Amino acid sequence: MKESSEEYITGAFARQRSTELSLGATSARERIRKIRALAYAVKYTYRQQIRDAVYADLHKGEEECDITEIYVVTTEAQHTIAHLERWMRPRKVPTPLPLLGSTSHVRYESKGVSLIISPWNFPINLTLGPLISAIAAGCPVMIKPSEYTPRTTEVIEKIISSLFPATEVVVCPGAVETAQTLLSLPFRHIFFTGSPAVGKIVMRAAAENLSSVTLELGGKSPTIVDKSADIGLSAKRIAYGKYMNAGQICIAPDYLYVHEEVKKEFLAELQSTLSVMYMDAPKSSAAYGRIVSQKHADRLQEMISEARNHGCDIISAGKASNEDRYVAPTIIIDPPLDSQVMQEEIFGPVLPVLSYRNIDEVLATINEKEKPLALYIYARNKSLINKIIQNTRAGTSCVRQNNLQFFHAYLPFGGSNHSGIGKAHGYHGFLAFSNERSVLTQRSFGATDILRPPYTGWKKKLVQWTVKWL
Ligand code: NAD
Repeated sequence: MKESSEEYITGAFARQRSTELSLGATSARERIRKIRALAYAVKYTYRQQIRDAVYADLHKGEEECDITEIYVVTTEAQHTIAHLERWMRPRKVPTPLPLLGSTSHVRYESKGVSLIISPWNFPINLTLGPLISAIAAGCPVMIKPSEYTPRTTEVIEKIISSLFPATEVVVCPGAVETAQTLLSLPFRHIFFTGSPAVGKIVMRAAAENLSSVTLELGGKSPTIVDKSADIGLSAKRIAYGKYMNAGQICIAPDYLYVHEEVKKEFLAELQSTLSVMYMDAPKSSAAYGRIVSQKHADRLQEMISEARNHGCDIISAGKASNEDRYVAPTIIIDPPLDSQVMQEEIFGPVLPVLSYRNIDEVLATINEKEKPLALYIYARNKSLINKIIQNTRAGTSCVRQNNLQFFHAYLPFGGSNHSGIGKAHGYHGFLAFSNERSVLTQRSFGATDILRPPYTGWKKKLVQWTVKWL
């Protein structure tokens, strides 16, 4: 992919800088108008172009594209439109007794020129979703989409240039070189979605300019299936969340721990769900995706081969084929904990299934790894559910469900430490691009007026009294 030139990037940045105060002064009504226009373009004007592009880049079927790309953007827009006026309203706060005579409030001011760097797996949703939050906050934005989804980037460029002047939103297509040029600039905020490895590079670059960051990263999301769970329903939900987009989902269940008493039943249900979902022929199913590049497909094949060499049972719904980057839905039974498939984020249609008897051992294994982006629990036993939640750490969780937390506009979405820093979606996305500025206004005589030095006589006593009682 052609890189955006340094001249283009620095020119666009300088022009956006000159508009950041005026854009930050826009009303809720003006921002809502822009968000509405963006949602309309995605839902109507460019919908078919988006579907075609996403299919060309990822073999993502129309229905899946509608649900996971179009719908996610339009609901984010709707939620923001419904609440933005209230989010932007200055928030009055109470006055502590020693500060009597003053009033205070918090203003939500736009941070200013921001950078959005997005990945390839949901190229529309993960680019335009954060953009809605940035527009809501009144920030100019520069966008760098992933180089792995060039057709979708072309459509994003068309949408953006038809709706926004480059002083407000501009797309900078390109790969690592473009990202590095962008990252050398003093953005007010950087919203990055991608791998933890590149997240560290972004944070290092941000530190040079003290740019604030939201890092939406990935990791290995564990899923526990207890014997108290509804096994049939659990298998169906896990299969849908894991094999959608050929498993290239940051919040997909990465590996499963299934109670040994229900493992056989669970595996049978999982296989029969896969047969139904892809009509026994995932390769020719319009609902089954492809791996984004040959490099990524080879990595998955290596993981499967390594597990096979370890002697693991592997259930695969067909043979891989290189010509169209197809990797079949695959289940690996009981891989060793030090194998590649249990060490790296899988990010593909390969599901390790381990069994357990003692939940404490499972929790210890999970806690040895980095904090995951998601942790899922399939169980009906309430005390077990509470025990798992209390004794683990994760960015997000679902009980008897997976992946749906992403679609909930009221829930903050994001990881914790290795799986991410900061939160996205709805109000939390608006906050990511806003500075909460505190404003204290002295209205009349204040207690501090009598606390100025020199500290002699009654003033000395007043200081003692203040520390003791106020
Ligand atoms: P990636 O980190 O390789 O790339 C993401 C973006 O960073 C791309 O635009 C890419 O061009 C850019 N980039 C790559 N190398 C760079 C470098 N050296 N310097 C600066 N920028 C660079 O991620 P990916 O392969 O596109 O996506 C997969 C990863 O993203 C997985 O780890 C997945 O879990 C994560 N992810 C997280 C979320 C979330 O919401 N938390 C969503 C989707 C994907």
